[in-house]
This record gives sequence, structure tokens and C-alpha cells, in this order.
Amino acid sequence: MSTKTLSRITKPGTPHFVGDGFRVHNFIPGTSTMQEMDPFIMLDYNSKYTFAPSQIPRGVGVHPHKGFETVTIAYKGKVEHGDSTGSGGVIHEGDVQWMTAAGGILHKEFHEKEWSKKGGEFQMVQLWVNLPAKYKQSEPGYQNLANAEITKVALPNDGGEVEVIAGEFDGHKGSAKTFSPVNLLNAKLKKGTKTAFSFPAEYTTAILMIEGSARVNDGDTVPADNFAMFKRDGETFTVEALEDAVVLVLSGEPLREPIAAHGPFVMNTREELIEAFDDFNKGKFGYLED
Ligand code: MN
Repeated sequence: MSTKTLSRITKPGTPHFVGDGFRVHNFIPGTSTMQEMDPFIMLDYNSKYTFAPSQIPRGVGVHPHKGFETVTIAYKGKVEHGDSTGSGGVIHEGDVQWMTAAGGILHKEFHEKEWSKKGGEFQMVQLWVNLPAKYKQSEPGYQNLANAEITKVALPNDGGEVEVIAGEFDGHKGSAKTFSPVNLLNAKLKKGTKTAFSFPAEYTTAILMIEGSARVNDGDTVPADNFAMFKRDGETFTVEALEDAVVLVLSGEPLREPIAAHGPFVMNTREELIEAFDDFNKGKFGYLED
């Protein structure tokens, strides 16, 4: 198989706060566009940041989403979630929450109460995966992927392991149900090991260096907290951990559909966007207490 070459490595930009609980660097859209990262339409990365203790949990109050899925990965700290379908729970360290907003949902995202009282180091990823047009009006859904339930693939020679959140790695299928082909892997790589990842050439593929640093294709080094995108020129790339590393790997088939996005709504046309705002204002997304 031919090599998938790096297209560019980007440093985290100036962070901004989402509500008062998430201090994020925006990689999509930001250092890349929604169109070039299709089907990934947003990537907010809360790099390690220490929150002081707070009796009142920090976070984001009730807000809507429509037309896509939100994927929250907790690396450090805990997030409590509740939504208008009645789903909710705590995303602990190592857990993943895969929420399908689809036809419309209201939710809130806060630091978990007890964690908030103590404060501490917080590190989190929120990725938005776009939905194909035919699923944008579907019923909302919720997959709580506790770490114990996530597929884990041990690497040879005690080289670490790959958590298959969605899609596939080395023939092992992931835990999350998706609406289009999406691979999302959390690779925990031991220093000095080299691991190969393969995806179809035409897929949109990138890595986010959560911990440590790694060399890609025996060439460029991707430092911690950097985002690296690949070209659509081949299938396979290698990641050599220069120290113990954690790498979030994303690869998905582009939907190749028009994108009409505004704030928390991502639809295909401007008319659908206006309708989404209208439906939200009319209370059609349900009800959720503050
Ligand atoms: Mn949200």
C-alpha cells in the first residue's frame, strides 16, 4: 500500500472559552475548513488546563444542536451531561460520549459536581461529525461509551494499545454506531514503537497529539497539542512515538454534500438553517431545565 503523506502540521491557536468550563483551541474550522475536513466539521481541543475549585460547576448551559453528532472524549477531568431526550450521565476520564443531535436536541455540559469542588487538570476533545443529508432529520440518540466497553487492541511487543472508539483498527471493530464510515482511534503508544495506520486514500485523515510527541512516516515530528492533516494520496502512514504518546486518529469518508452552518446548526441549505432556528424558537427541540 502506498504512503499517505502529511499535508501540514498546525500548532494550537489562541484558546477561547466555551461557556466558562471549556478552554479550547479550535482546529476545525480554524486551521482547516469544514469543507476540507469533511465529514469532521468541528474540533475543539481543551489542552491541559488547571481549573481552580468551584462550588458552582463551570460549563455551558442549555443550548441546541441540529444536523450532526457531537463526540466528547474526556482525557482529564469529568463532564456531566443532560439532554432533552432524558439522556445524561457523567463522562469520566477515558470515556467517550457520542451524541446524535440529528433532528434537534437541547443539552447542557458542565464539569461534574464533585470534580468541580476539587478542581484540577482538565483535558478534553469535542469533535462534531456531520450527518448525511438523509439522517439530519432523524431522531436524536445517545451512546455512552464507558472506557471498559471500548474495544482495545494490544500492539505487538508491549507497544501499547489502540482504543477503537469507532470504525476499525487491524480488523477489530469499534464500539460506536455511525451513520457514515468514520474511524476514530485513541492510540496509546509506548516510546520507541512504530505503528502503522491504514485508511482508504480518499478519506479525510488527521491526528491530534494528545500526549507526547511522534514522528510521522519517518519524517516530520508532531509535537504535543499539535494537529496534523494528511493528503488523499495513499493509504498508510506510520507513527513513531518519540516518548510515551497518546494520539487521537480520525479518518472518515467525505460526505461531499453542501454545508450550511451557523452556530450550533449544520444543515445542507440556507432554507434548512432558517427552519432550524425557527423550530428551535418554537420549542420543537423539547425542553430541558437549566
Ligand atoms: Mn453542545
